[in-house]
Amino acid sequence: MQHLAGNLFIISAPSGAGKSSLIQALLKRHSDMQVSVSHTTRAPRPGEQDGVHYHFISVEQFKALIAQDEFFEWAEVFGNYYGTAKSSIRDSLSQGIDVFLDIDWQGARQIKAQESSALGIFILPPSLTELEQRLNNRGQDASDVIAKRMAQAHSEMSHANEYEYLIINDNFDTALAELERIVLAQRNGYASQAARQQALLSQLLAKSAN
Ligand code: ADP
Repeated sequence: MQHLAGNLFIISAPSGAGKSSLIQALLKRHSDMQVSVSHTTRAPRPGEQDGVHYHFISVEQFKALIAQDEFFEWAEVFGNYYGTAKSSIRDSLSQGIDVFLDIDWQGARQIKAQESSALGIFILPPSLTELEQRLNNRGQDASDVIAKRMAQAHSEMSHANEYEYLIINDNFDTALAELERIVLAQRNGYASQAARQQALLSQLLAKSAN
């Protein structure tokens, strides 16, 4: 795909590292940034809204979308399907909106294979003890699910080296400032500027009349 005005960011982290909190805090500050809403077959958690946190659909519906090639990437995690639909992302990018994909390393690989300009940001917790504490404090998961997430954390973190950027979410405000810096700096990348500043570039580079 030709580079569009907005940039596409892949954000991954072991569950509980603070990825959702960081993204939400950044979106509050910037109206020209969006998180892509994924499709999933898992049940909504308390407080989660259809179309806001996820598009909640059935396994049959999910399989139909796969057959229609509607997904950039999809994966089965803990027995549930998750996927990223193509069309809405492209619309946002062409309007100059930066889009975040909140996906795991397997999804990240699939996206990178199709969109080499997508930039990966990996978020790590300051320690395993802190990670477990955050999962407990969040109060969303039963203890067996937390044990599963902790077991999964090692495998997710072992792929951090496949990403362009690394953020340690120890102090929240520091991590948020780092994330914001990365995203804003990317707007000055040549490909992004060429899409935004097409008219100016051709005007400046036009052969002079004399
Ligand atoms: P993820 O989306 O990575 O699974 P969440 O954003 O749900 O993680 O964060 C997990 C828990 O940790 C939440 O209760 C959140 O408020 C808390 N949290 C996030 N970042 C920090 C931080 N830097 N310090 C302390 N707690 C944090």
